[in-house]
Order: sequence, then C-alpha cells, then structure tokens
Amino acid sequence: MTRDEPVVVCRSLVKVYPAATGRVQAVRGVDLELDAGTTTAVVGPSGSGKSSLLRMVASLDQPTAGTVTIAGVDLHTARPGRRARLRGRLVTHVYQRPGDNLLGHLTASQQLGRLTRRRPLVMDALRRLGIDHRAHHLPSQMSGGERQRLAFARALVLASPVVIADEPTATLDTASADAVLDAVELLAASGTTVIVATHDERILPRVDQIVTLRDGAVASITAGGTEMAVIDRSGRLQLPPGIRERFADGRAILGWDDGEGHMTVRAP
Ligand code: ADP
Repeated sequence: MTRDEPVVVCRSLVKVYPAATGRVQAVRGVDLELDAGTTTAVVGPSGSGKSSLLRMVASLDQPTAGTVTIAGVDLHTARPGRRARLRGRLVTHVYQRPGDNLLGHLTASQQLGRLTRRRPLVMDALRRLGIDHRAHHLPSQMSGGERQRLAFARALVLASPVVIADEPTATLDTASADAVLDAVELLAASGTTVIVATHDERILPRVDQIVTLRDGAVASITAGGTEMAVIDRSGRLQLPPGIRERFADGRAILGWDDGEGHMTVRAP
C-alpha cells in the first residue's frame, strides 16, 4: 500500500442474516474509502446497519458478499489464527461501556504495558491523553471518561492504523465526552483512521465526515458542512427522508438539464 491509498476500503459490502421471518439484509452494498488520519462518524437510526458494517470492517464478522481491506490487507481471506493476529495489529476496538475495554485487575500503566516492550511509550501515551496522574490506578478508581481515554491510549501504544469505536461517549457527561473527542483528534493527528458509530450529536461537529446509513445503505456523506447524496456503483441513489412518500406508487420520471447541470426527479 502506498501512503496515498485509503486505509479502509469497503467494496460492495453486503451482510445478510438468516432470521425466522426470512433473511434480514442488514448491509446492502456499501462502498466506502477512508483515508489515513481522518475521523468518520457513522450515524443512522437504530437498525440501519451501523454495527453490522463496523463489525465487518473490524473483521469480527464475515461479509455475505463484497470485500474490506485495511491497510491493503483483506482480513476476511486470512486463516483464523493469522486473522486474529492481523486484527490485533491493524484494528483497536473501543466499546461503548468503558469497563468492556479494560482488564479490571490491571492499573492504567499495566493495561498499556502488556501491549508493548517499549516502556517509554506507555507514560507518553498516558501523558498525551491527560491521564498520567492515573497511571497507578485501577479502572474502578477512574472516571468513565478517563477509562475511555485509556481505551483510546491502547491504539496510541499499538500504533493502530484503524480505531473502531462504538458509541464511545454515550454514557459520558459533556466535559468527559469532550476529553474523549480530544483523544480521538489526537489519534487522527498521529495518522490513525478513527471510525465512530454514534447517536451522539456532540461528536458530529468534531469529525471530518459523517456517513449516514439508512436501511443498510449509505444515504449521504457530509464533509465540510456539505451533505452529499451517495450514488453507488450500480447507480442507485436514496431519496432523503420525507421525499419518498411523494412518490406514492414508487415510480419517477428522471430528467437531465445540461445547461444547469441538474437532474430532475418528477412524480409521473
Ligand atoms: P444498528 O447498529 O444501526 O442498530 P444493526 O447492524 O445492529 O444496526 O442491525 C441492522 C439489521 O440487522 C437490523 O434489522 C437487525 O435486527 C439485524 N441484525 C443485526 N444483527 C443480527 C443478527 N446477529 N441476526 C439477525 N439479525 C441481525
């Protein structure tokens, strides 16, 4: 992989679950490219496919179809043992509940110390995330926000190319959430690609792009304050919420205005 290639590449990613009532199409052909050192929030209503998508990116779950590569590596085609090793090197996961990310019987410096032989990295990571005064504390002696920052500090020590965080601020007050978002920005500045699945509005102004999922597809991508609809590889485009109802029989007449560079979508 060269430096300019995206670190995370999803191509036509599909996830279908068997269910008693028939098959559930949780992810329907997602194409996504995320560059090194960028932050992305994945948002969408409950059931829109956020967890399914991120579990496939993290190679915790196999895609039904399509591919994911991380730093040029397709984890899903690797044998299980090698996949686990590669995942450990390439992806750090931060779960919603601060307790799920850490070992309860280890102090903050021990949690990080077990990940590296390079001791100076540990204190440096704790210092950069503003939790060096907690170095010798157990998770139970730290606040929720401090524990989440410690969870992100693991990625700094491991130099993970990708961090995937599932609702990392959901249980935190605003000051703690801000400190966690500082940690996210610090990681991105060090070159890590950070993906956050979230319902938390406080996160949105602080990420480079917002990927909105609807019914398992990318409905829009917002970057630099501009929301753009996404046209997938098959030419499919989702209508914004509230507009679909105007096309009661599910038909539309499309037009193209060359002069204006506009496409029109009219009810028949
Ligand atoms: P979100 O994270 O946005 O809430 P999910 O990825 O959890 O969305 O779910 C997307 C859809 O897939 C939902 O309809 C959900 O019920 C279904 N789903 C998720 N996981 C499973 C599973 N293990 N088995 C069957 N259906 C699932």
